[in-house]
Amino acid sequence: MEIFQKLQEYHYEQLMFCHDATSGLKAIICIHDTTLGPALGGTRMWDYECEEDALTDVLRLARGMTYKAAVAGLNLGGGKAVIIGNSKKDKSESLFRSFGRYVQSLGGRYITAEDVGIGPADMDYVRMETKHVTGLEYHSGSSGDPSPVTAFGVWQSMQACAKEVWGKRELTGKTIAVQGLGHVGYYLCKHLYEEGANLIVTDINEENVQRVVDDFGAKTVAPNDIYDVDCDVYAPCALGAVVNDNTIDGFKCQIICGAANNQLKELRHGELLRKRNILYAPDYVANAGGLINVADELIEDGYNRERAMRKAGLIYDSIRKIIEISKREDISTAQAADILAESRIATIRGVKKVFVA
Ligand code: NAD
Repeated sequence: MEIFQKLQEYHYEQLMFCHDATSGLKAIICIHDTTLGPALGGTRMWDYECEEDALTDVLRLARGMTYKAAVAGLNLGGGKAVIIGNSKKDKSESLFRSFGRYVQSLGGRYITAEDVGIGPADMDYVRMETKHVTGLEYHSGSSGDPSPVTAFGVWQSMQACAKEVWGKRELTGKTIAVQGLGHVGYYLCKHLYEEGANLIVTDINEENVQRVVDDFGAKTVAPNDIYDVDCDVYAPCALGAVVNDNTIDGFKCQIICGAANNQLKELRHGELLRKRNILYAPDYVANAGGLINVADELIEDGYNRERAMRKAGLIYDSIRKIIEISKREDISTAQAADILAESRIATIRGVKKVFVA
């Protein structure tokens, strides 16, 4: 891979390769853009097939964090880290402490958190070497489970789409198909039930399905039948790449809005949804509640859930702006979201031109 060419293409600021022979640490920290503030993004531990896969992953994920934070109105940049290794076999105190020292060496330009393959015990070791860690579940001042805030943001996004499609934001009487009834899916169903929406749900976990049937009177379908079920809104809250060549023609909904990451298999699927007159709430905008929640820990007076919820409520306005851009520019909402993020970064970069002593 031509590394500098790659960094230049998407304006990456910094890539740090971390190696420690004693602990066996092989990690890459990527800082994409810090115009808005320090780069925040989790650390993932994964047994990549080759180093190039690890590099591609960290570059993609770091850039995604920049866009997510920018549209969410946070004063944070985008970053991410990957530790190359098997999360079942290769973990040790020395590995995570060594990684923590590299994070510390960046002096707060990068703030880390848990991601795939990393648990609270691992982060405790990282925390021994650096204060630039956030989202530690059981520490004092912790922001706790982000899922209720994420679900709230998804619900607000759905209402913003409803306002566009049906002229009013309330989802009362609408039928919502929810795929995935885990942490976020459950809370989303609760909001929708309380608002008087009808629920059709699915999950591969029977217990999770039963809970939503018992608590909210949801109807159920088999996991593979959720894509073409008769509904007004399809809410993907389980897997990525659910909008793809196999599913796209079957959708009967008018809105797609959920919590799952990377819902579009490819960017062109966003355009195909638009051609089918299905309004798509870009995933990284709709599901930003989790980031908004954890970012609140970094505010000087400490974490405040009410403030986090209030900020998550602003996702409604972001989705409305994105719809506006999409209509004005005749582009998909996915592309419009990127434009909104880039324009905020460009504006703030301009503001920062003024020297302040
Ligand atoms: P979770 O693991 O608690 O729940 C996922 C649910 O999906 C589980 O109940 C699982 O059984 C189900 N599932 C898996 N495969 C399925 C399939 N093929 N069909 C139907 N159901 C299936 O995860 P979560 O925290 O609720 O997050 C849901 C999604 O939202 C994930 O993609 C996650 O990355 C994304 N997300 C979550 C947050 C958050 O705050 N938790 C924030 C941003 C994005």
